[in-house]
Amino acid sequence: MTHRTDATSQTSARAQRAPSPPAADPRTLAEVQRAIIAWFADAARDLPWRRPGTTPWGVLVSEVMSQQTPMSRVAPRWSAWMAAWPAPADLAAASPAEVLLAWDSLGYPRRALRLQECARTVARDWGGELPRDEAALLALPGVGAYTAAAVASFAYGRRTAVLDVNVRRVLGRVFAGRAHPSAALSKAEARWAGALVPERAHVEFNAGAMELGALVCTSRSPACERCPVAVHCAWLAAGRPADPAAQQKRAQAWEGTDRQLRGAIMRVLREAHASEAGSGAAGTGAAGSAPAGSSDAPGGASTGVPEALLTAPTAQLDAEALDGLPNPVRAAVLRVRELGDGERVQRLAGDLVSDGLAVRGTAGELCLP
Ligand code: SF4
Repeated sequence: MTHRTDATSQTSARAQRAPSPPAADPRTLAEVQRAIIAWFADAARDLPWRRPGTTPWGVLVSEVMSQQTPMSRVAPRWSAWMAAWPAPADLAAASPAEVLLAWDSLGYPRRALRLQECARTVARDWGGELPRDEAALLALPGVGAYTAAAVASFAYGRRTAVLDVNVRRVLGRVFAGRAHPSAALSKAEARWAGALVPERAHVEFNAGAMELGALVCTSRSPACERCPVAVHCAWLAAGRPADPAAQQKRAQAWEGTDRQLRGAIMRVLREAHASEAGSGAAGTGAAGSAPAGSSDAPGGASTGVPEALLTAPTAQLDAEALDGLPNPVRAAVLRVRELGDGERVQRLAGDLVSDGLAVRGTAGELCLP
């Protein structure tokens, strides 16, 4: 599950400085491959997209949803999503508001719109079927190297290295004695890791290495005592030394971040849309603006809330309008007001509009696109 940062030049430089990992001893490699494959056969989680009948498109959706989001949160969303839009053409025909609503709180909602863009491309240019070729997959909107490799392996059984951070950590610890992978995947590491993928059962190996990194060989507290490859692990044998050169990404504090506040604003828009869809009735007029669900909303497709309710100073807040909102919308509005001042909320609302995640109506309402 790759995560790009905007520090591309820095990470590239780091990747270039990182020494190439050593070649793996063939006998050790074969034993590690077997151990991971056998362990996965017993320990694999029952995730809905691993069940028989999952389409390549379903695999791609699972991979996009899983980026930077725990599987426990993804699984129910994936099931609901695939029930609503089983094929790319179904998703392509949905409104952006519906898509964002279904994405709910998975985070990084731009992924949802990129996924819909991808669905439109697949429906239009590929007859509704995902291409099998990794390079063609990579050319789809929102599909990066990791996702293309994952679909090629898990959906089409191609032999390729699927290198998310979990796999890179496992391979790096076992074969190179490194505590953590570098921030960026270098070409040298990709080539090295590619040579570790077995000729047979490579799908199980890829999935198993990923699962091992997620469940056992975790970043902060690897459970070496129950690891199937402990006997071969170079990092364990070396006493699990810290790696001063590793660019372990520090977890960004969540409280107080713009990301947290953006998420809270998006929740307001989703609640307003859901409220409209559920009741068929618009909210009340507020702050002198058009009512939620106003036909002034761009495209007339969604309903929203007056932006002033999110940004007005308390002394100028139209309390009556606020009280008139459906309960979940009102609670979401109050949460936004709690998290950020009006100026900041306005700036982030502008960013959401620029990103295509929200639109402003002519009467001052903010709503899903
Ligand atoms: S022995 Fe420990 S560090 Fe090595 S791969 Fe297993 S869990 Fe990870």
